[in-house]
Amino acid sequence: MPMSGATQQQLVILGATGSIGANTLDVVARHPDRYSVFALTANRDVERMAHLCLRFSPRYAVMANEDAANELRKKLRAESCPTEVLGGARALSGVACEPEVDAVMAAIVGAAGLTPTFDAVCAGKKVLLANKEALVMSGRLFMDAVAAADACLLPIDSEHNAIFQSLPDDYRRDPEAAGVRRILLTGSGGPFRNASLAQLETVTPEDACNHPVWNMGRKISVDSATLMNKGLEVIEARWLFGVSASQIEVVIHPQSIIHSMVDYVDGSVVAQLGNPDMRVPIAHALAWPQRIASGVSALDFFGIGAMSFERPDPERFPCLDLAYRALEAGGDAPATLNAANEESVQAFLDRRIGFRRIAEIIAATLERAPRQEVETLDAVLEADIRAREIARDEIGKRSAP
Ligand code: NAD
Ligand code: MG
Repeated sequence: MPMSGATQQQLVILGATGSIGANTLDVVARHPDRYSVFALTANRDVERMAHLCLRFSPRYAVMANEDAANELRKKLRAESCPTEVLGGARALSGVACEPEVDAVMAAIVGAAGLTPTFDAVCAGKKVLLANKEALVMSGRLFMDAVAAADACLLPIDSEHNAIFQSLPDDYRRDPEAAGVRRILLTGSGGPFRNASLAQLETVTPEDACNHPVWNMGRKISVDSATLMNKGLEVIEARWLFGVSASQIEVVIHPQSIIHSMVDYVDGSVVAQLGNPDMRVPIAHALAWPQRIASGVSALDFFGIGAMSFERPDPERFPCLDLAYRALEAGGDAPATLNAANEESVQAFLDRRIGFRRIAEIIAATLERAPRQEVETLDAVLEADIRAREIARDEIGKRSAP
């Protein structure tokens, strides 16, 4: 029987036109009795946003780009759609912090998501975190804000969602008592798992975005190909679960059926398994602590047949070690790593640099940027700007004429 309107959860989806946004709306559409879309946000994809507004009738639609907001407003008026259109980055935080909002899906890609995600945390919302860059950049500040506002933070990244499911319910209250030895973060190894160094010199953006298992946005697809995605996830796990870098081990598991594992001191290893489909962690976090259908089929063990495991290769994939180094350096080093990565990935996608230059540029930026402590969100945003300037200079040195 459908629930009454009053018990529906009001959702804001930051980054609604992206890959996580689409998967979230797919799950939401299966449960109209439980969820109602309060606001959808995007950067500039007017066509897609207009389609989503007509389909989900949110109270608000926000376009970070003002021109795109004006265009969307005209389009929706012509269709007599009652959704109110807002423009500009500030409106992202505005809708996420509205008192009626119960949960915020943070699915903007990159540093652009930091401020609205942080603001949603400070407003004490239930925050479903896909935007790992926000947590990588602000680390301790972010987790302190979660505690201060008593926000409910649930991981959407499939690995972290798996770890969350493999830890005891009261883990955050007494992490010591849980007896965690290691966190085993699994990864598919990306599209270049078996490529030689020579082959990596000539791979194209199309090759990098052709992931063997996951269909994702372009930036995270390149991150998966360099293994920087795993590096960012190591930093994400450090903050979400309060473990040290030395307790987090990356395991390459090409079938992507085990989404991560927790190794306990008594020798038990607890894992979460499932088909590689982001609707699984999204449905888990939306309904937690209950369970709802996600539209994903049951796992077929006989179809999988065998599962394999490998060590990551630091020579072909240096980004993973760079992330461990930034985590150990602390302060603004993770924000520097993230900024240099975003700039060099964009340069690679624009064909200004080759694939292997990405790691070189990040390493050079980490060398050159002065390492500083960060006590405020503004300090994090300043570190981001500083690092981007250095990274652009390093990109210039390596760009094809
Ligand atoms: P995507 O590129 O498909 O979508 C990004 C979304 O962010 C779009 O809606 C876009 O409009 C919005 N956006 C981009 N720049 C913006 C800006 N400046 N201001 C406001 N909005 C902006 O990306 P995605 O693959 O959906 O990934 C989103 C986040 O989720 C990333 O942080 C990624 O690391 C994380 N994530 C994604 C997956 C996946 O399967 N796609 C898995 C795990 C984690
Ligand atoms: Mg992941």
